[in-house]
Amino acid sequence: LNTIVYAQKAADISTLSEKTLHTILEKNRAYYTQGKVADYIPELGKMDAKAIAFSVVDKNGKVFNTGDVNKKFTMQSISKIISLMVAVNEKGEAHIFDKMGYFGSDKPFNHFSNLETTGKPLNPMMNAGAILTTSLIPGDGEKPFLKILDMVRYITKNSSIDYNKSVYESEKSTGHRNRGMFYIMKNSGLISGNEDQLDNYFKQCSIELTAEDLAKIGYFFANQCVRFDGDATYKNADMAKLVESQMLTAGMYEFSGEYSRTVGLPSKSGVGGGITVSVPGKIGIGVFSPALDQHG
Ligand code: GLN
Repeated sequence: LNTIVYAQKAADISTLSEKTLHTILEKNRAYYTQGKVADYIPELGKMDAKAIAFSVVDKNGKVFNTGDVNKKFTMQSISKIISLMVAVNEKGEAHIFDKMGYFGSDKPFNHFSNLETTGKPLNPMMNAGAILTTSLIPGDGEKPFLKILDMVRYITKNSSIDYNKSVYESEKSTGHRNRGMFYIMKNSGLISGNEDQLDNYFKQCSIELTAEDLAKIGYFFANQCVRFDGDATYKNADMAKLVESQMLTAGMYEFSGEYSRTVGLPSKSGVGGGITVSVPGKIGIGVFSPALDQHG
């Protein structure tokens, strides 16, 4: 938390340097001992708990990196902000949010929340809403996933990004809760397709990238969907506001309220150990540390 608050100040005084980042990282290095690598997806259990990386894209799109910056990890739930953007781009906000809420949450990411009562997921950040969001992206088979992957490649300007097949297989063969949510929503008519749509969700979670890529994603939503190099193909202030509002109210699941109070920046976590942070109108931050707290 100190790391991010410090970075927010740095964004104001624009004296960012790799040395500053390195100092912050070293101060925070020992915190991994307070966490645990996710192992409910067996492949994730193989992550190095001690790995740590920290990346910032400043207001001018300049990249600062420190730590294990070349280490790749899966973006997991961070992919949910990308799928939300793709779905809203194609179908419009009204269509997507007719089927789910804008609610914050006091429940873990994989909670069934009110699927049984009102039928609708609370928001597109928890698994249920994210699985539904991906199912609403037009296209057969793998196509919706490829649209998400293309958007990640565009935002990061990194065409080598792909998904990790072993993590995908691992999620697919053990994601019974997610499969349960998928079929409850199919039963209530919210989802109309077949299990390819659930596979697309597992694939998007398995997209592999680095802390630098996450910082570029943070920058993109912090700056009205303009890319770090100034490319404005997707410039859309309202889209950025929608995504940032979801990050702020539900991006850290049941910890979102406390996180808003202490850090106060739109952020999205993933159980692969990444967090993307947007400092609105300013910078993007990407952090990587796979040892998670109890909120994932
Ligand atoms: N793929 C993970 C899951 O569905 C994503 C969860 C997360 O990152 N919080 O369980």
